[in-house]
Amino acid sequence: MRIAILGAGPAGLYLGYLIKRRAPTADVTVIEQNPADATFGFGVVFSDRALEFLRDDDEQTYAAIVPRMESWSDIALVLRGERIVIDGVGFAAIGRLKLLQLLQERARSVGVELAYRRAVKDLSELDGFDLVVGADGVNSLVRRSLSDEFGASVDYMTNRFAWFGTTKRFETLTQTFIQTELGSFNAHHYRFTPELSTFIVEVDAATFERAGFASMSEPEASATCERVFAEALDGHALISNNSIWRQFPLVHNARWSHANRVLIGDALHTAHFSIGSGTRLAMEDAIALDKALVAQPRDLSAALSAYEAARRPILEKLVTGANGSAQWYEHFAEHMALKPVDFAMSYITRSGRIDLERLRKLSPKFVARYERERS
Ligand SMILES: Cc1cc2nc3c(=O)[nH]c(=O)nc-3n(C[C@H](O)[C@H](O)[C@H](O)COP(=O)(O)OP(=O)(O)OC[C@H]3O[C@@H](n4cnc5c(N)ncnc54)[C@H](O)[C@@H]3O)c2cc1C
Repeated sequence: MRIAILGAGPAGLYLGYLIKRRAPTADVTVIEQNPADATFGFGVVFSDRALEFLRDDDEQTYAAIVPRMESWSDIALVLRGERIVIDGVGFAAIGRLKLLQLLQERARSVGVELAYRRAVKDLSELDGFDLVVGADGVNSLVRRSLSDEFGASVDYMTNRFAWFGTTKRFETLTQTFIQTELGSFNAHHYRFTPELSTFIVEVDAATFERAGFASMSEPEASATCERVFAEALDGHALISNNSIWRQFPLVHNARWSHANRVLIGDALHTAHFSIGSGTRLAMEDAIALDKALVAQPRDLSAALSAYEAARRPILEKLVTGANGSAQWYEHFAEHMALKPVDFAMSYITRSGRIDLERLRKLSPKFVARYERERS
């Protein structure tokens, strides 16, 4: 079988590895427009139990990635200078480029062909392949080319965000909320190596306008954010890497495959970055598609239907939670009027997946503080 996977992000690289690992005679090519050492953004976090989902079926990849991660067991919110710690909410982080390099090594180790610096402009370039996988991210060419067939839609959140890095080391994943004369600012920040941290700045549409970010150059916008977050940054600068202001896209597809073309990862769906799950979901899609291909080795159409039937219910639950979180951020300026402890409770229950009883078990210290101080 000849398989073309478009996109060498986490979804495409991991799918290539999984398929070739179990079917060494398959001809698997991953095609990527960028060089192997290029990436956007800085570190990414994994929520819950990090990469536990890999452990059972793929101990080697798990063992390659986990020792390179930074991890912590609490998160912190800072509002009006007051710090509220929510215990028991663990995350682990890794540099996006480091993760891609580790996945490239895994893919090469089983004989996947990695074709970098090749931008596919038209899907007809992939006509000779038996299976074409669109692992080509948010702006997927595969999805756009077959938009009606997939029943695809993309809606945009109104907030703007810019993804920076910094040399400031943060002890735990922290969310800092600041009110200035320009408006309301939020930063999601956490370390992903001992020396480097991700620093994502988010503003609502009104603040974006008032601050004049639309007409600022990247260095000007970065300098404005450095001034706003001077205390959190503690004298460290923000580092840019194509850190332009963007609106988060909500990608949805009514159908996941058409003929021999199928979507995985961000090409198929997005999950707001505030729940730290996009990368994990992309890799889990790869696992689900590989399993479906194994179960139906001679009937591609049945395999692609089985992939969607098995994965969609799980994915929709997660995406619903992610959308709840995204909506909370759309209104974060209003939530900032709350007392810090009420604000923290509103934050931690934002995706609708956790109630007070569950939280009492998960975050006993935070709930005790909340019950002492709530209004
Ligand atoms: C600000 C921000 C913060 C985030 N933080 C986190 C986080 O903390 N944790 C987390 O899990 N997720 C996070 N995410 C989401 C995460 O980055 C994505 O969910 C994940 O990268 C999806 O993987 P993917 O392989 O599907 O797509 P991508 O990683 O986007 O990879 C797609 C690849 O396809 C290539 N490509 C596209 N079109 C073509 C073409 N025509 N020809 C050749 N190549 C092509 C692209 O160059 C790219 O390399 C964040 C996202 C954003 C925007």
